Amino acid sequence: MSGAIGFVGLGQMGMPMLANLAAKGRTIRAFDLSEPARVSAAALDNVQVAGTILELARETDVLILMLPDSTVVDRLLWNEGVADALRPGSLIVDMGSSHPMNTRANARRLAALGVGLVDAPVSGGVKRAVSATLSIMIGGETADVEKVRSILSDLGATLVHVGASGSGHAIKALNNFVSASGMAATCEALAAAERFGIDPSIANQVFNSSTGKNNTTENKVEAFMLNGRFDSGFAMSLMCKDLRTARSLMQAIDAKHAFADCCTRLWEAAESALPRGADHTALYRYVGRDAANDD
Ligand code: NAD
Repeated sequence: MSGAIGFVGLGQMGMPMLANLAAKGRTIRAFDLSEPARVSAAALDNVQVAGTILELARETDVLILMLPDSTVVDRLLWNEGVADALRPGSLIVDMGSSHPMNTRANARRLAALGVGLVDAPVSGGVKRAVSATLSIMIGGETADVEKVRSILSDLGATLVHVGASGSGHAIKALNNFVSASGMAATCEALAAAERFGIDPSIANQVFNSSTGKNNTTENKVEAFMLNGRFDSGFAMSLMCKDLRTARSLMQAIDAKHAFADCCTRLWEAAESALPRGADHTALYRYVGRDAANDD
């Protein structure tokens, strides 16, 4: 789809995604509540910063959102006038990890205004946002998805059209439930190995050459946990939000969710115990490193 592109939400993920679109020669109008984010965006070639989100909405054909959650998305659309400001025929691409049930409802309400909605959340973290190799899972009408496919291709290495509206957000929440479960199991296992007298780095090497290997053991243990950095760029509060989304989706559709309950409780306990703003990799501080040292 040709036409003006707007981009709202210039945080850990949104800023490198915006930079990649701009580097591909696309002209983009951007907006964020944060002044420092607006200043950084304004320094990019091909990016103009809008004065307000409504000004941006009135002038865009494709409005990309990379916002924290459905509460923010819904408020912008329905309480702050963005849905009414969009022109009929325009499209919203919600790339944040919103709630699939809210997304379905938004798609219906927006369709009545002649506005399309594609949900296109991402996986891969800041590293793959920077390298434009994100995994992008897409929900929505095929015609709408095709209109934004080339934009999404500039951001990701893998694009999968999962199904109807909300399907991208559903599979994203379920993916993060699987990922959070792997991280929780890895942290508990590393802490137990350490208590037994095994160097956690050696324990992780064994996992990586054995059946315990997972995304945490491969990409997070050495890079963000054992070195005490805890700075992957994905907040613990966002992981907890994703887990609550997965659990409430499973409840709403009457799917079994005993393990999702248990996993969500563990992550929420860690979130309350750790300092505000902690990275999700600091789960190891909660169940792992600190717990192992405090007796
Ligand atoms: P972030 O908190 O770093 O960025 C969110 C941005 O949205 C901030 O710059 C904030 O100022 C802006 N914002 C909030 N409310 C706004 C509003 N009303 N109007 C305009 N701007 C507003 O979050 P993030 O880590 O970039 O994550 C964004 C989304 O992507 C979340 O849904 C998250 O779950 C998902 N996600 C994050 C990662 C990651 O590794 N960080 C990976 C995959 C998916």
